[in-house]
Amino acid sequence: MPTIRLKDAEKRYGGTAVKAVSNLNLEIGDGEFMCLLGPSGCGKTTTLRMISGLEHLSQGQITIGDRVVDCVSSGTFVTAEKRGMGLVFQSYALWPHMTIERNTDFGLRLRKVPKAEREARVEKVMKTLGIAQYRDRYPSQLSGGQQQRVALARMLAVNPDVLLLDEPLSNLDARLRLEMRAELKRLHEAFKTTIVFVTHDQWEAMTLATSIAVMSDGELQQVGTPNDIYERPANRFVAEFVGSPPINIIEMTDQSSGPLAGLARAYFSKFYPQLKSIGSVGMRPEAIGFVRDAGAVPEGSLSGRASVTGVLPTGGSWIIELVAEGSKLFLTTHQPPAVSDGAEGLFHVPPEALHVFDDK
Ligand code: ADP
Ligand code: MG
Repeated sequence: MPTIRLKDAEKRYGGTAVKAVSNLNLEIGDGEFMCLLGPSGCGKTTTLRMISGLEHLSQGQITIGDRVVDCVSSGTFVTAEKRGMGLVFQSYALWPHMTIERNTDFGLRLRKVPKAEREARVEKVMKTLGIAQYRDRYPSQLSGGQQQRVALARMLAVNPDVLLLDEPLSNLDARLRLEMRAELKRLHEAFKTTIVFVTHDQWEAMTLATSIAVMSDGELQQVGTPNDIYERPANRFVAEFVGSPPINIIEMTDQSSGPLAGLARAYFSKFYPQLKSIGSVGMRPEAIGFVRDAGAVPEGSLSGRASVTGVLPTGGSWIIELVAEGSKLFLTTHQPPAVSDGAEGLFHVPPEALHVFDDK
């Protein structure tokens, strides 16, 4: 499948002035597993529907390779059926009067695929998704999660060039969701199908995507690999949306003092020349350490006095709450902590682990 390109894409729904999506520029390359990630209402579903052809753009253009499929200024619009994409939505509609096997076979029949090939593909995909044993049942006799798998199977059976998936795992319990993620990843690796996957779940995006597009309020915040998004968040929104426990944010004023402020200022001009001022500094919880004695601070680290105000076990790891320079900091550790409430000492963080943002 050639690259899908959205250029200055914008969507206002029927007469409303509010932009569900605005000024969206995004490229989805061949074979990519692109996750659209963001909180509820940020425009993910709208974006997916625009790509699929279920919604017209209000402004801008979408191309697939060099084929224009939607262009407001020229009035071009290619319908959903002619875009060659498979869609699975959060609320999927299985045919209630058809067995699971017939439902899985549905798209292949529609495309008039020869019987022997149909049977082979249905068999393979039902096995892969673990629904073969329900072949003679009807959708009402399956759980929500099993139905969701049938919807996925029906989609995969036709082997589309692009799969558009809108929170397809949302009705599954935690274990099955994990299994399905691994399955989707295997399917993607095996078939190299381009996938656009909508989710509000950062873990889902992190584990699945080759590329993540983070959205907020209808606007694209950052596109990058999961590692880029986590290690080099473009702004405070992205930094706070991704990561659990969330990133520590220290808001800065011109009067801010102490080692964090000092270091942020020192590194600011060197590493963040594009910023006009420092609004805030972020530190991931796993980048921070706590020691009792100044001598134990790793060389080259930034450090400052801190006291422990809480130790929270989370099963296999611990979150330690500190107060440093009047700010609350959370750090995570996988070693049983040798400190308890009230302990005095020093926090430390390597300077390269500081994220500097221009927004507060
Ligand atoms: P997400 O999938 O990220 O939760 P949506 O794309 O569904 O977000 O919605 C983006 C914005 O557009 C929201 O403010 C939502 O209320 C609005 N919206 C979505 N669908 C419609 C519609 N059919 N008519 C009017 N507004 C809509
Ligand atoms: Mg949605």
